[in-house]
Amino acid sequence: MKVALAQFIYESNTFNERKAGLEYFTQNGTWLTEPGAIRAWAATNDSQLSGSLRGLTAAGCETVPVFVAQCGTPGGRLSTDCYAAVREALRTGLRAALPADALLLHLHGAVCAVGEDDVEGALLAMIRDELGYTGRIVVSLDLHSNVTPRMLQHADAVTAYRTFPHMDFFATGERATQLVLQPQTTVRTLATIAALIPPTATDHRQGHFAEILAKAREWETRPGIIDVSVFPVQPWMDIAGLATSVVVTATTAEAGAKAARELAETWYAQRNSWQTGLLTWPEIVQHLVQSAELPWLLVDTADATTGGSDGTSAEAIKHLWPLRNEFFGEVLLWVVDPAAVAAAQNGATRFQLGADKFPIEAKVSSTGECRFQPRGKAYTGQTFSSGAAAVLNAGKLRIVVTEQGCLCADPAFYECLGLNPIAALAVQVKSHMGWQAGYEVGPKRGLRFDGPGCTTLNFARLPFTGPRRELFPLKDSPPNPVKLWQSI
Ligand SMILES: [Zn+2]
Repeated sequence: MKVALAQFIYESNTFNERKAGLEYFTQNGTWLTEPGAIRAWAATNDSQLSGSLRGLTAAGCETVPVFVAQCGTPGGRLSTDCYAAVREALRTGLRAALPADALLLHLHGAVCAVGEDDVEGALLAMIRDELGYTGRIVVSLDLHSNVTPRMLQHADAVTAYRTFPHMDFFATGERATQLVLQPQTTVRTLATIAALIPPTATDHRQGHFAEILAKAREWETRPGIIDVSVFPVQPWMDIAGLATSVVVTATTAEAGAKAARELAETWYAQRNSWQTGLLTWPEIVQHLVQSAELPWLLVDTADATTGGSDGTSAEAIKHLWPLRNEFFGEVLLWVVDPAAVAAAQNGATRFQLGADKFPIEAKVSSTGECRFQPRGKAYTGQTFSSGAAAVLNAGKLRIVVTEQGCLCADPAFYECLGLNPIAALAVQVKSHMGWQAGYEVGPKRGLRFDGPGCTTLNFARLPFTGPRRELFPLKDSPPNPVKLWQSI
């Protein structure tokens, strides 16, 4: 069996006005179009493509990996040029690899471009319509995908991550491989749920979301059910059709509909228990002065670069600045501020940090590039860059300023600048949950706060428009909260 493969991972937050250009991949992440280079890359990391290449090779398949684009950080919509480049690289690579018995595509599922709210659906349509491919297409998605009927019309089978914080990239690749190796005629059922769930309420290891995942596994043991994937959608997208969803790949329409509806209704019934877990600053300071297992993680939920915010909020710096000489250990903080980086390179001692221009005096202790390979349990072995960076010292505060955002939720982010996050009293992360995989700690170590930024858990603060306001909790009781769509 010959299988052509590709991986394209980016996530859009449409409340971030900045458009993502090609440099999000080529400079700050990964962009590969040559099979040999892709194999070499996949051999050194734990990505979906690593899992699928290994599984297919072990099964004796001929593999042709044609394209990898992995962003350095999520952000706004893809720019017109960037979207065109992604589309062209995928189209050219696949066209050269065809004919193939199957295509295996590792996608995110929440990518918007300028003028296109459903990039993954459009790419799949391109493969069917422009390349005329009629063979089997298997797709793996991120748990935060906004799954659309168009995606499911063109994909024969779908699976997705089963962890949040995400740690099962490789396992997802392996699972997708099984869908390639066991071809069956399928019906895909999409059950949409008119609700947005705070990502902090979707921990796969405990609580209500763990129950939903357990029920999904239970459904997969029943006749006719091939895969049950659940999607607490990336909530910061003001687009038509935004929804939490359940997707069932099944051999019959009846089996798929029953599983999707029952699981979606069970999930929606949990809605009043979805908590943000946010703390006030006095509560956070209380924790910081208590001895505990360290470090504490200062979790900036509103300005999470992992969810597409731009990282420019100085909220933590502002609240902790008055206490800078009182902490018993170092407190590592981070803000995206290209002007501050330039000032630090020129030896400045006064800075105005972040979007709010919070004024501080500090000593520059180092400058360099914030380029690193995560060493925790997520994105291990891949390379990310926040661009030029500097470390500013003031009392016990160690403030990292960088040119741009990146997937920061791993100790290697601070370590590449000579800091020691593991020995610190507290470490700021602009990430909702990923830090638990990066730092390999449990949720109790996190001190979550709200502030400026477009990944706030207070969804009502964001300017959702039109029908998007019909989603719980923006609306208390949306009409017909669970809806079904099927691929036949
Ligand atoms: Zn995700």
